[in-house]
Amino acid sequence: MDVDRKYGGYRSGPRQASLLGAALHGGRREGRALIYAIANQKGGVGKTTTAINLAASIAQAGEQVLLVDMDAQANASHGLGVRVKPGQPSVFEVLLGEATLASVDRPCPVPNLHLIPASPDMAGASVMLPFLDRREFRLKDALEREKEFVGQFGFVFIDCPPSLGLLTINSLVAADRVIIPVQSEYYALEGLAQLMSTINAVQDRLNPGLRIAGLVLTMMNARTSLGKQVEQELRTHFPHLTYRTVVPRNIRLAEAPSHGLPVSMLDPTCPGSDAYFDLALEVISNG
Ligand code: ATP
Ligand code: MG
Repeated sequence: MDVDRKYGGYRSGPRQASLLGAALHGGRREGRALIYAIANQKGGVGKTTTAINLAASIAQAGEQVLLVDMDAQANASHGLGVRVKPGQPSVFEVLLGEATLASVDRPCPVPNLHLIPASPDMAGASVMLPFLDRREFRLKDALEREKEFVGQFGFVFIDCPPSLGLLTINSLVAADRVIIPVQSEYYALEGLAQLMSTINAVQDRLNPGLRIAGLVLTMMNARTSLGKQVEQELRTHFPHLTYRTVVPRNIRLAEAPSHGLPVSMLDPTCPGSDAYFDLALEVISNG
């Protein structure tokens, strides 16, 4: 499918051009991709939506991007139209050391975006992880083993499951940065302390280079005073860590996965698409 033509040649728009400029001059480190884990043990806060749309925005700006789906729900894979059939390898075989990243890499409808898919089989199989050698380092080791494959990407995003189990720990150990989506609702900040202390423990014991890139407010309904209150509270608690971009509640963001597309390819001018391009610019410029 010629996505450029089908979706109206939006890649040459001014927004894309400025994003591309920032991507090329700012975010990329010489020699190795910058790896971002998208994590929050709270369910349904917008991790997968952020992972897909951030990865897609940067890929559409011309960077080579890899998205790793570490969640047995496989929402990131399904949201990009990729389904692992029974018997086909997924990221889990990579973690077991039975398959290479390059061999499970799947093309997506987004130019420049590659996907390492998850499979629902992982749910049962993940009981094996605790018994493996270097159980917290399985993803990091795989990424480091395949320098040539990983070297083609400027950015890697890892979509984490809603838990602080070994799949999330593997993601935090493999990552340079963590992005924390926070849903703008009453209990938004609940659980953040536990997440922060897990991140600190990983920094102390397993990955001293890990940094929090930022917290991003998602599903904001700007018409309610609750949304504004939550935003104010988050910015008060984490003044230097909260991204300026706030992702609005936008029906197109919720619809896009059923089309197997990022929102920017379903409706490039909707508020959800704009927000993720803005967030991509911030992520790239902050490094
Ligand atoms: P899980 O913890 O189960 O992995 P998650 O943190 O990955 O969930 P998402 O799957 O991204 O969260 O989002 C939860 C639901 O909310 C999905 O149905 C998604 O389409 C919807 N959603 C996410 N962000 C928005 C938004 N900004 N506006 C409207 N709907 C959204
Ligand atoms: Mg998810």
